[in-house]
Amino acid sequence: MRRALTIAAAVVVMAVMARAADDTATRWWSHVEALANDGMEGRNTGSAGHKRAAEYVAAQFQKAALEPAGVGGFIQPVKFNTRRIDESKSGLALVKDGAEDKLTLGEDANISMRVDPAATLEAPLVFVGYGLKIPERSIDDFAGVPLNGAVVVHIAATPKSLPGPLQAHFGSAGERWKMYKAAGAIGVVSIANPKSMDIPWARSTLARLQPAMSLADASLSETAGQQLSATMNPAHADKLFAGSGHTFAEMLALVDGGKPLPSFALKPRLRARVAVERAEVESQNVAGILRGSDPQLRNEFVVLSAHLDHLGIGGAINGDTIYNGAMDNASGVAAMLEVAHALHASGARPKRSIVFVAVTGEEKGELGSLYFASHPTVPRDRIVANVNTDMFLPLFPLKTLMVLGLDESDLGQDIRATARELGLQVQADPEPQRNRFVRSDQYSFIKFGIPALAMKVGYEPNSPESAIAAKWTAERYHAPSDDLQQPIDRSAAAKYVDVVKALAIRIANRADRPTWNESSFFRRFAAGKS
Ligand SMILES: [Zn+2]
Repeated sequence: MRRALTIAAAVVVMAVMARAADDTATRWWSHVEALANDGMEGRNTGSAGHKRAAEYVAAQFQKAALEPAGVGGFIQPVKFNTRRIDESKSGLALVKDGAEDKLTLGEDANISMRVDPAATLEAPLVFVGYGLKIPERSIDDFAGVPLNGAVVVHIAATPKSLPGPLQAHFGSAGERWKMYKAAGAIGVVSIANPKSMDIPWARSTLARLQPAMSLADASLSETAGQQLSATMNPAHADKLFAGSGHTFAEMLALVDGGKPLPSFALKPRLRARVAVERAEVESQNVAGILRGSDPQLRNEFVVLSAHLDHLGIGGAINGDTIYNGAMDNASGVAAMLEVAHALHASGARPKRSIVFVAVTGEEKGELGSLYFASHPTVPRDRIVANVNTDMFLPLFPLKTLMVLGLDESDLGQDIRATARELGLQVQADPEPQRNRFVRSDQYSFIKFGIPALAMKVGYEPNSPESAIAAKWTAERYHAPSDDLQQPIDRSAAAKYVDVVKALAIRIANRADRPTWNESSFFRRFAAGKS
């Protein structure tokens, strides 16, 4: 009897746990539906749809009894300058021996509005391989090629010999521009590496007519002084190499082999004419605080973040123009809302305070988080950690947690312990060449020295799950089909919510502040700050 009772009791407990997971999954999905339905119009930064989504998040924060941590409420307004290219008055051309060979915008190359371009420009082109100068690693792709007044041409790749976090850091547009500017260059042409393009050229090119944005606070611009940013279609890249004695295929083979690339002057000069329509918009970060319970530690903050914005309305794919961003990143905001709900419902009172921030402008270059990190609504030196969720992709059961930044700080120990308790495996980023550690909002906090992690549903290389993830990226990433009509594993989302909740509590209850590992590259940002 006793044994039977015990089994019966265990069955009841398991049923209650399963029920709770069901409830979490159901509520999580209802938030995704609320944020990614067509009425939200893709939540473009600065749009009415984004504002409605921000108000939804603020209302949910209120329900979870968070304290407002915006400016006069849950909302922190963020001002942006916007730029849209007028292609009818713009053009790129290669000039050789006085003859002009026009590049077709949208097919051969695109002019990026991420930087504020000069109206006209004509300059020599210099191929600089990976385009990196990192003295501490004895890398100098600029040796022997004068770059003063030149437009540099690089392949959007980093040497495989560099550790993942360094590839990610130095491969970013902002870090690259620092190096090019220091060498005297005035513009940049980036050739995508076909092997690591997340989005095929034909699809990425649809986005070129969308407005790009920068923070109205010019002191936060990472590309000041850059007169041109262009991207070259890798399939047409040989137009640049003609007459140089090299081919793009030859360069790619060196990249694939992990070999150094040569640097050399290209034969043509580049001529650019760029007409820009400029405007200003305001968008919203949304922030709320679960106040900590410890009289001292409650003045320190663990920041949970997820970006709320997506791409809005854009070029039609299969007749659909609304880029709903259900996984990118309504899913992450929904997970954060569920963590806030679960903490409130459980009455948990962690020692440190937990700040929940839904940030805007991620798709424009992690701008909302950069604004929050540089104008935080709590003292920045009291922010002890950031845990970011961006497109965690619950496409199959969560058994392995992919952790970006796993080996960079002692937060790695916290996530390992959390995963162990929840019966999950942990893996570092299996594809460091995709630069994911610096490609989302956690990097805005890292730049200010704050240890951070970001997590996703993981999978083993060459497994059926890795094929599902790859197919998702190829077909739905930044496409209108990232919508509410796609197969999702809601149990994985519920499990993910459990992970973030347990991790947040664990960090909030630590005796000491998290610190960067001695060996971490990113530790330099914290130097002198702790
Ligand atoms: Zn995105």
